[in-house]
Amino acid sequence: MIHWTITMLDTGTQSQVKGFMTYLTDMDQPIQIPVPIALIEGPRKILVDTSFLSVERTWEVRRRKIVRTPAQEVVAALAAAGVRPEEIGIVILTHLHYDHCGNNRLFPNARFFVQREELRYALAPTSFDASAYFAPSLGIIPDYLGTKFELLDGDAELADGVRAITTPGHTPGHQSVLVDTATGRYCIAGDAVMWYENLERQIPPGIHTSMIDCMMSMARIVRESNHVLPGHDPKVFARQPARYP
Ligand SMILES: [Zn+2]
Repeated sequence: MIHWTITMLDTGTQSQVKGFMTYLTDMDQPIQIPVPIALIEGPRKILVDTSFLSVERTWEVRRRKIVRTPAQEVVAALAAAGVRPEEIGIVILTHLHYDHCGNNRLFPNARFFVQREELRYALAPTSFDASAYFAPSLGIIPDYLGTKFELLDGDAELADGVRAITTPGHTPGHQSVLVDTATGRYCIAGDAVMWYENLERQIPPGIHTSMIDCMMSMARIVRESNHVLPGHDPKVFARQPARYP
């Protein structure tokens, strides 16, 4: 069995309210959330998500302040882990919200995987979701367009011991990534689990297109993995470097 390692890279910080993470719970409590991407290393180098394009772009489309220090630039964060963008052979996108797929262009040698259902919805979401997707209906070109995608229709083994599994709910075509490591199977959850409390208190993420699917997907993640790395919980950086196992 191949044992992979996972390094969580910090690529930005956003001020939020807790209700964003935990549905109808601690609604107005102010919190700071990181925007992590995950580097998986083994026989090859794989990235899960590519973060938001830039502070300026986020403000332009979302009117939302997000902070990125020089060390949080995607290329710098990768360099700190000893990796150049050209070395990334596979990029798995959990979903197409703007803060997960904005820097695909940095990876010239990667194959990109996303669920067909996610791309379909991202291109024509409801008006409520349009800005989170940087949707064409806003009169803009989403940052992920121009990426040559390999579209998945369900679960897929993308390398020996690295598997994409469908975890809808946060978005219709959301997927998470199961990774075999020396200490068991990790799930890089993406926003299917935004915050450890989603699992601990059994509360769906605050942002979702189906609350029921969220709960089913969290149950699936717990069933199929030994450890979970949430999409926006600062606790994933409690250890430095944030390397798992
Ligand atoms: Zn999201």
